Amino acid sequence: MLVAAPSAMSITTLQQIANRLAAGECSSVEVTQDYINKINELNKSLGCYITIDAERSLTQARAADARRAAGKAGALTGVPLAHKDIFCAKGWLTTCGSKMLGNFVAPYDAHVVERCDTEGMVTLGKTNMDEFAMGSSNETSHFGPVRNPWDVTRVPGGSSGGSAAAVAAGLAPAATGTDTGGSIRQPAALTGICGLKPTYGLVSRYGMIAFASSLDQAGPMAHTAADLGLLLNVMAGHDPRDSTSLQRPAEDYNRDLEKPLKGLRIGLPREFFGDGMSADVRRATDAAIAEYQKLGAQPVEVSLPNMGLSVPVYYVLAPAEASSNLSRFDGVRYGHRAAEYGDLLDMYKRSRAGGFGAEVKRRILIGTYVLSHGYYDAYYIRAQKLRRLIAQDFAQAFKACDVIMGPTSPTTAFRLGEKSADPVQMYLSDIYTIAVNLAGLPGMSIPCGFGEGGLPVGLQIVGNYFDEARMLNVAHQYQLATDWHRRAPRGVTA
Ligand code: GLN
Repeated sequence: MLVAAPSAMSITTLQQIANRLAAGECSSVEVTQDYINKINELNKSLGCYITIDAERSLTQARAADARRAAGKAGALTGVPLAHKDIFCAKGWLTTCGSKMLGNFVAPYDAHVVERCDTEGMVTLGKTNMDEFAMGSSNETSHFGPVRNPWDVTRVPGGSSGGSAAAVAAGLAPAATGTDTGGSIRQPAALTGICGLKPTYGLVSRYGMIAFASSLDQAGPMAHTAADLGLLLNVMAGHDPRDSTSLQRPAEDYNRDLEKPLKGLRIGLPREFFGDGMSADVRRATDAAIAEYQKLGAQPVEVSLPNMGLSVPVYYVLAPAEASSNLSRFDGVRYGHRAAEYGDLLDMYKRSRAGGFGAEVKRRILIGTYVLSHGYYDAYYIRAQKLRRLIAQDFAQAFKACDVIMGPTSPTTAFRLGEKSADPVQMYLSDIYTIAVNLAGLPGMSIPCGFGEGGLPVGLQIVGNYFDEARMLNVAHQYQLATDWHRRAPRGVTA
């Protein structure tokens, strides 16, 4: 049984841990051991991690302490974090939430994992996720659902639900996530933490198991905007192993945190503020905009006329790319292979039938259909054209504003099982986030209040291409004036 603990937990930020390590107030081994203890206590109830390996984590922590002693520590050396199980990590089981990869130990590191390791960060484990990142509730994972630490009868959002719940419950100070249609922002909103999906191409996809390659993007999840910037500084940067990785000079994403917001133009798209969102999300979102006005920002009405098409467009394009990407899982080279089969074709069929769950199969079927001869022009090409129109809507809107704001998710966290029987209801969880992926823009979610039942609400901030530093500034200034991001769930005990 899970019960609420009597007092609220307090949050710990990456910056606080980094400061304590730098001041010699604690060692990385001590910090890491504290998190391992907490994981051991709570992970069974919450389901945040698929794999933990304390010995591996502590070995990294010891190396980080030695590096610090040698005077070679970087900003985040010795600081622990969790990686979504979509990132290959050498020697770690890397499942992508699927039975298909239930026995797959990665032989190499994803770019993101390599970057964090090179910085000297400590991997606490691999977090639970919707199977192949397809879902908005973390219920499609082969390894069972993740529970929302604010109310364990509710979902944490998805697909980066394990990362989000781990940060919210204090089982990691920060985590990596990926966002194809909302999978960083929506779970961040539902668990009361911050998450940032960078501009497409800013963070290398090398070693990140592909879902829909033209939309997939990795990003940081943490308690504060400043922590997101610290982690993005480590994760971002050119990588020749990903052909869509952008070649840009390195930047400090936290360089503008302290800038005042006077004169900032906040675009409020008419289409974001229609009937779609629940009353409690609306109240918190409106209050956040009012707070921004107090900080000197100006609201401007803008319009994204094609936004209503983003969910249907996404559910043509993402399954099309997924059906192609997932064709590699055939039971031959790695992953699940059926125990019994006849000829080669039969082996493919049985391995794929047994290795993939229902949602993944649904996407493969849709994707194969829209790409097939006779339907390609009617669906796939048409969706590509609409994708361009959606991107143009944003370009037009950004002529009148500096950032766009609105809700991240139409509702707060829903109950486990509430939407599992109705895929379309589940798909609509991403109604405010998907257009941002289609346009390749950066988007983030920060906590902005609580709705019915004390459940967190997230505010979405969308920036123009490569405007991450400004978005972090905008989020940080709000976090100086409010304390929503400092609230923690009352705590869950096993
Ligand atoms: N919920 C969306 C989907 O199921 C988005 C997932 C994601 O961003 N990875 O496809």
